[in-house]
Amino acid sequence: MNPANQAAVLSRRQFLAAATAAAAVSASSPRLIGAEPSAAGKPDFPLVDFHVHLDNSTIDQVMELARSQGVKYGIVEHAGTEENKYPVVLSNDEEMNGYLKMLDGKPVYRGVQAEWTDWTSGFSRKTLGRLDFILMDAMTYPGKDGQRVKLWDPDAAARVDMSDKQKFMDRFVDWHVELLEQQPIDVFANVSWLPAPLADEYDTYWTPPRIQRVVRAAAEKQVAIEIGLKIPSLAFLKIAKEAGVKFTLGTNGRYPNMGKLAPCIEMAGRLGLKSDDMFVPKTEGQRAVDRWKGNA
Ligand SMILES: [Zn+2]
Repeated sequence: MNPANQAAVLSRRQFLAAATAAAAVSASSPRLIGAEPSAAGKPDFPLVDFHVHLDNSTIDQVMELARSQGVKYGIVEHAGTEENKYPVVLSNDEEMNGYLKMLDGKPVYRGVQAEWTDWTSGFSRKTLGRLDFILMDAMTYPGKDGQRVKLWDPDAAARVDMSDKQKFMDRFVDWHVELLEQQPIDVFANVSWLPAPLADEYDTYWTPPRIQRVVRAAAEKQVAIEIGLKIPSLAFLKIAKEAGVKFTLGTNGRYPNMGKLAPCIEMAGRLGLKSDDMFVPKTEGQRAVDRWKGNA
């Protein structure tokens, strides 16, 4: 049974949070509640949760939690046009600058989670250049009418043709590659997540050639791959490691479920990841947005 199976029937918001709860760790070291070392031992890299949402909390609550865990957070507000429906969607420079100001002086990495292919349209390069990192996933997908569909929504199966699952999967892999090649992305999140109709057969659909295509695009574009609470599989991550891809650990957590990295750390241990394998936000000039050729 694949660990991703149960996750896929939950919402994007819920599926990793549920896993976090299930993976509650004992806290023999109060400074490392979220980072209880697995049998593989303590990682030799600083612990960062690069996928933290503020939806239902304040930055001060979240910073308190980070301090108690000894984990640094990468905060990601959603960014895109107003067509994207989330509790908060940053859509223009003014909103982005307000968000960055709110995080001023906080010991966090300042990121966004980009939504859809037009997400950059409201922002100047200068403002995007103020971010420490840009995170994106492939879970919002073009429907039959070309409109954006959240693949975790209950109506997704009606709006996206998944009748031939192998065909859908080929298009879904193309979609991953298209985003990796065309969008300025530092971190690719929720990687290898599958919509409900396919989720029970993760290994059937994520064949080595499909994994290779996604990994190759990530490697070429210097995009790090997120190790989440349940996905990607070890087989997927091994291929990524061989290709020299960098990794992040990410919970996709909402308060108080961020920073609880134990399952990610265990997977990093199984992969034998060292500090060299881990993504570190780049300096100005080296980020994805600096390399990005733009929409035109
Ligand atoms: Zn997220």
